[in-house]
Parts: sequence; C-alpha cells; structure tokens
Amino acid sequence: MFDNLSDKLDKAFHILKGHGKITEVNVADTLKEVRRALLDADVNFKIAKDFTTRVKEKAIGEDVLTTLQPGQLMVKIVKDELTELMGGDVAGVNLSGNPSVILMSGLQGSGKTTFSGKLANFLKTKKNKKPLLVACDIYRPAAINQLHVVGDQIGVEVYSEPENKNPVEIAQNAIKHAKANGYNVVIVDTAGRLAVDEEMMTEIANVHKAIEPQETLFVVDSMTGQDAVNTAKAFNDRLNFDGVVLTKLDGDTRGGAAISIKSVVNKPIKFIGTGEKMEAIDVFYPSRMADRILG
Ligand code: GDP
Repeated sequence: MFDNLSDKLDKAFHILKGHGKITEVNVADTLKEVRRALLDADVNFKIAKDFTTRVKEKAIGEDVLTTLQPGQLMVKIVKDELTELMGGDVAGVNLSGNPSVILMSGLQGSGKTTFSGKLANFLKTKKNKKPLLVACDIYRPAAINQLHVVGDQIGVEVYSEPENKNPVEIAQNAIKHAKANGYNVVIVDTAGRLAVDEEMMTEIANVHKAIEPQETLFVVDSMTGQDAVNTAKAFNDRLNFDGVVLTKLDGDTRGGAAISIKSVVNKPIKFIGTGEKMEAIDVFYPSRMADRILG
C-alpha cells in the first residue's frame, strides 16, 4: 500500500500555504510521488502516466481554496480522480430474473468457490433471497466437495451431478431444479484452470450462452498484479462479463489491480473478498478504495 501519500503531498505543498495558485513546477515533483506510488501498487505504467497527466491538468491553475491547504486540495484532486478511475459510484448485482442466474468465472485459486459461498450467504442474510449453489466443475471432484462444505456452513443447498461430465447440462438442470423448488437466485460455480486456455474458455462460453445469466462475475486474486489485468481481458473478450470480484484484499496486496482492471476492461468492480470466512465479503466502494490507496 502507499506509504502515506497524503502526508507526502501535504508536505510537498505546505510551502505554498497562503499562495493563490499551485504552479506547474510545484506540481511536477508531487506528481512524481503519485506516479511512483501507483507503480509501486502494481498499476500499469501507461495508466499511471495518463492518470498523473489528468491530475496535472486539473491542478495547474486551479485556485487553492482558502479553507484548504494546497496539499489538501491536491490530495482531493488525486482522490477524486482515483475514485473516478475505479468506477465512480457503487455498482449492484442484477437480481431481476426469476430465478436470477449468476455465473462465476475466473482462474483456479482465484477464490471463486469461496466467493460463491460468500455471495450466497450475503444474498440470503442481507437481501432475504433463497439462493442455490451449483457445482459445475467436472474435472476436480474435490471442487464439488468444497462447494458442499461451503454450502453446509451457510445453510444453502448445493446442486451437483458428480457423474455428469457436461457442465451445460448440469447448469440447465440446476436452473430447472431451482424453478421447481422456489429458489430465486442460482449461483453457478464453474471450473477454473491455472492459466487461461482455449478449452476452458470454450467451456465457460458454452455455459454462458446456454443459461444466459443475468450477471456474469469475474473473480480475480488481487495479489496477482499485472497478470490480473491480462486474465481479466481474456475472460472479458469471451464472456463480456458484468462485473469484477477482487479477492484477497486482506493480504499484503496493494490494490493497484483495481485501477488497472477497471481501466483495461471498463467493467465495474462489484465486490471484494477480505478473508477466508464466509462473512469476509464487502461491496466495492471506489471512494473507500481510493482512501485506502492514499493511506
Ligand atoms: P477457486 O479455485 O477459484 O474456487 O478458489 P478457492 O475458493 O478454492 O480459493 C483458493 C484459496 O484462497 C482458498 O484457500 C481460500 O480460502 C482462499 N481465499 C479465497 N478468498 C479469499 C480472500 O478474500 N482472502 C483470503 N485471505 N483468502 C481467500
């Protein structure tokens, strides 16, 4: 995370107190700090550069509000831009279907299964929904078991067909089961691979096409830095997903992935995962994330 960027900016601009304008020269040094901090946080070089250019344009010539110190104004400009870059407003999930189908995508280990459980628990306890979890991983029996363990923990039924090797069929049968049994949300956990491969992409694209989910979420480990951006792009190209889930933000992660992913695929980050427990889920607030990044 950034080392007190706010403090650094404040110090850099303290000298300007009492002056009416922030000048180009004063801004340049500070923007170097901002750019370094963004790069440290794993933000892509071009994105960091574009970002500081925009902040510079805003800052130069802007009147320093009498009630604020120049440094604080600068922090505000940086924070507003960061918030904007990460999506501005909070984005929700589309629950308009009956049942609403949510398809989870992402690499193995990204936290898909854990998040599927967290989301089911969140919708059940906070939104009064009756969710059904669906295990669509036909390669790893352990993955099906894992989802059953999660389902037991939160008291949510898990639909699986361990003998069936056709994920499209499993997903379609699960939706029929949901309709017949009064479930109003169906969360489909799909198989993940360690890296993007054509077979996996075709498989999930087929499931996507067959079940037409209201919401397709892409789950990504926030600790994977630049790789997270490439993976997001590959999945978005095939699925045109609706939102991103950023997991493992409780770890020693810098959060720069949030900025890069949003800039590259232009899809909102909807949720964050902040731990292994079922309660460790949060709606993504761009302004909170900007605060966190600024330290
Ligand atoms: P999947 O292969 O994408 O289904 O990933 P899993 O749900 O099995 O998660 C992989 C590992 O990451 C497991 O050990 C999870 O407990 C862990 N995990 C998932 N989400 C989080 C999170 O938000 N924070 C932390 N610290 N660990 C997480």
